[in-house]
This record gives sequence, C-alpha cells and structure tokens, in this order.
Amino acid sequence: MVSTLAEMRYAIISDIHSNLEALKRVLEEIDRLGVDKTVCLGDIVGYGGNPNECVEVIKERNVESIIGNHDKVACGKEEPYNFNPVARAAALWTRKELTPDNREFLNNLPDTRFLDDFLMVHGAVSDPDLYIVSSYDALMEFRLMKKNSVCFFGHTHVRTCYTLLNDDVRQSFDHELRIEPDYKYLINPGSVGQPRDRDPRASFLIFDKKEGSVKFIRLEYDIEKAQRKIIEAGLDRRLADRLSSGW
Ligand code: ZN
Repeated sequence: MVSTLAEMRYAIISDIHSNLEALKRVLEEIDRLGVDKTVCLGDIVGYGGNPNECVEVIKERNVESIIGNHDKVACGKEEPYNFNPVARAAALWTRKELTPDNREFLNNLPDTRFLDDFLMVHGAVSDPDLYIVSSYDALMEFRLMKKNSVCFFGHTHVRTCYTLLNDDVRQSFDHELRIEPDYKYLINPGSVGQPRDRDPRASFLIFDKKEGSVKFIRLEYDIEKAQRKIIEAGLDRRLADRLSSGW
C-alpha cells in the first residue's frame, strides 16, 4: 500500500563519511523497520575508506540527499580552504578516489530540499556550512522558518533537537519526541559514520508523520573493519581512532 504524504514514515540519515560498515548496518535496520522513504542530509563522503561504495549505495537505493561540505570538496565544486589539515587530506584523497560518475552525482546534489512539508539542510537554514551548536544559533535559524515547521540538519555529528514556542528555545536530547502544533523544530539525527557525542554507535532517526513522532536510533556496527579501511587507505590514524571513541 502506498502511504499518503501525511502518513509517511521517513528514515533520516546524515554524515555517512564513507563509512560503508555503518551505512550498511543502518540501512539493514531501516529495511527491518519498513519506512516509506530514506533521506540524507549530506556528507556522504570524506574521512572514511569507502567513498565510491557509499555513493553507490545511496544511488541504488534512491536515497534523496543534499550536498554536504565534504561532498563539495570531494567532487571539486569547492576547495578545502576552511578544512583542518586532516579533513583536507581526506577530502583530497576522496576526490582522487571517486569515479567520474560518482563525482558528478555529488556535484548535482542540491544544497537544500523541501520535501513533503519539512526542510533538509546540511549545516543551517541560513548557510549550509554553519554549525548549529547552541540555543542562540537555533533561535537565529528559527527566525527564518515559518510556523509549524520542521527542519532536519546535520554537520555537527551530534544528535539533538531544538524546539521553539513563543521565542523560547529549548534543547532536548530525549530519544523520542512528539511533533506538536505551533512549535518549530530543528532536529539533528546525529552521524551515521562518525558520531561525535561520545557514543560511537551509528546514529539516525525515524520521522513518523502519521504518529507525529521522531525516534532516535543508535546501532552498533563493525567499527574495527571501518578503522582498518581508513588505515589501509593511508588516511590519518586519528580518523580511525575517533570512530571507537565516538568523539
Ligand atoms: Zn560531516
């Protein structure tokens, strides 16, 4: 049965960062949960050892994605001027590894998408490269959103939710929340392939429009295998280490 828009269940993933082991584990769970659509908030590549494989999985499964800052550098759309040396080296290695087809796929991804009635951005509504890390940052972004609206963002690799009601911003780290009328929401599903909230498990969420709920999910995956690939690719060892520390 095809779900109507108001009944859709979405899986929202972000910041895969060429981590095929984490991506496969998350998609396996998404299949088990039986969602209607999977969408990605960008940074499919960068940092990890399997850029082509991750792009191909996203293409094959018709995951609707937007472009992240690492994807932009990897496909040659931007140069890594504001990247730290470790991120820059990984992004330029990724650019060299990617097939022309996969570079083109990344190059064609939009900066934002308005899907159904929610917004998808990589960093922030005002700027795809901006990090939303505080209630003040969230307030600035809420001012650009209309009433009763939900925006999903990534980029920080930290799962969280900001809500706004009457100019009052609240931040929550609850595992489950209800979408209430009159509020605005800025929600980050966390990172599939490089979590930074001191929990190394892959992170994503399920947005159930019929139930009006958001559920955050964490999954263990084969971290050691992903780490070996980073080291074998000759990438900085710290990129492997941070996968097990989740930081
Ligand atoms: Zn990222």
